[in-house]
Amino acid sequence: MAPLNILIVGCGIAGPTLAAFLLLSPVPASEKPRITILERSSAIRSQGRNIDIRGVGVAVIRKLGLESAIRAATTGEEGVQWVTKENHVWASVPASGGAGFHSPTSDIEIMRGRLAEICWKRSKALSDDVQRKGGAGIDFIFGDHLGDLRQERAKVCVQFAESGDTKTYDLVVGADGLHSETRKMVWGADGEEERVKQLGMYGAFFSIPPADTDTKWRRCFHTAGRRVMMLRPDNQSGRTTVFLNIVNEKDSRLHDAARNGHGSVQAQKELIKEYFHDAGWESDRVLGEMMETKDFYYETAAQVKMETWSKERVVLLGDAEYCPSPMSGMGTTLAMYGAYTLAGALVQHPQDISAALAKHEQTMRPSVDDAQRLMPGMLRLMNPETPWGVCMVDTGIKFLIWTRLIRVLMMLKGSKTATKPVDDYGFERLPDWRE
Ligand SMILES: Cc1cc2nc3c(=O)[nH]c(=O)nc-3n(C[C@H](O)[C@H](O)[C@H](O)COP(=O)(O)OP(=O)(O)OC[C@H]3O[C@@H](n4cnc5c(N)ncnc54)[C@H](O)[C@@H]3O)c2cc1C
Repeated sequence: MAPLNILIVGCGIAGPTLAAFLLLSPVPASEKPRITILERSSAIRSQGRNIDIRGVGVAVIRKLGLESAIRAATTGEEGVQWVTKENHVWASVPASGGAGFHSPTSDIEIMRGRLAEICWKRSKALSDDVQRKGGAGIDFIFGDHLGDLRQERAKVCVQFAESGDTKTYDLVVGADGLHSETRKMVWGADGEEERVKQLGMYGAFFSIPPADTDTKWRRCFHTAGRRVMMLRPDNQSGRTTVFLNIVNEKDSRLHDAARNGHGSVQAQKELIKEYFHDAGWESDRVLGEMMETKDFYYETAAQVKMETWSKERVVLLGDAEYCPSPMSGMGTTLAMYGAYTLAGALVQHPQDISAALAKHEQTMRPSVDDAQRLMPGMLRLMNPETPWGVCMVDTGIKFLIWTRLIRVLMMLKGSKTATKPVDDYGFERLPDWRE
């Protein structure tokens, strides 16, 4: 039987991770799937701030031989400190140092762009190896996207929007992120509002030159108006990474700015400036640098919730499939774990794609449900409108740290999804890989 011909849409985190595992299928190189990865951007997208890899995510990177490379590329953040507007530290929580704790700074903190680059290079190295042994490996297509997609019996016919080429695949995997075009094409754009649950939170991420006040700790300043500013270290670039966060369900401009996408960076910056110009602390420095920065990224916080993750020969993956939102701290971990379970299911059911997709869904659902569970009202509670509310939250955080209850909470969260053992699908074992 001919090897499966698979199109993966999106070369972020989930896409190349899936491709890498598919190439590690325990069959001869000539029988491994033929893979195409289609990425809209002209190169790997380097934006984004610190992301976490926890528990099952660590197990997955070990299976790809990537643990050393990823640990060597971490940001070096030592934990979180909460500061006053005079920059006095009033509370702190160190990095977790293990899978059993779900502290704000995880065991592995890495810049998103750096991780995307490592995943892509890893899949490319595996592809070169498979091609040397007579397999098809991966065909990477950058700077294009799907123009059309039709399912015909057991095949999917697609047309690439830029090149106009038409191709046929056995399976199409939509790993194209929160705003997935694949999801809209197959499930219908009309249902997006229902599927993508907006949380009323918006964030701007970018990097700025370091200053004397920056340390190896994340400094977190929250203030009235449901606003949070975070400054974080990055060992790799030597720059300080910034996260500005607003909780607001009323101002539609915040939502529209996210929908308008990358063509409107200047307008997004102006909006963020309007919100933070009077925040105090280091806002003058941060906003001044923000207007100059080239790596600005603005996004809405949302969760993707769907009853089924596949339709005939199209399946979603990662954020496109079940984005749990940045609040969960599990987006990247679940994207990598989902890639692993999908590849594993395809290895277990090479002749029956429907069975494989059902198996993937069955394996992932409990972890996804767990990660998507947010305490009702938590966002508004933790991001108060008034100075009095800020004072109450500060007192609550101090109480949790002083009584050590925060450790119990971190252990409870860490003991769920993050630490469960992963199934073994017989993928080839790899030595540690270095770029
Ligand atoms: C630029 C960027 C910055 C991010 N920053 C952060 C952050 O700071 N903190 C955080 O927690 N999470 C961030 N995320 C989200 C985070 O990467 C994901 O939650 C998680 O890693 C899951 O990865 P994914 O591969 O499913 O999706 P993503 O990492 O979003 O990757 C999706 C990929 O698909 C590509 N793509 C999109 N549409 C198409 C299309 N139509 N055709 C082809 N390709 C397409 C995108 O360019 C991207 O490379 C960011 C995502 C992106 C794309």
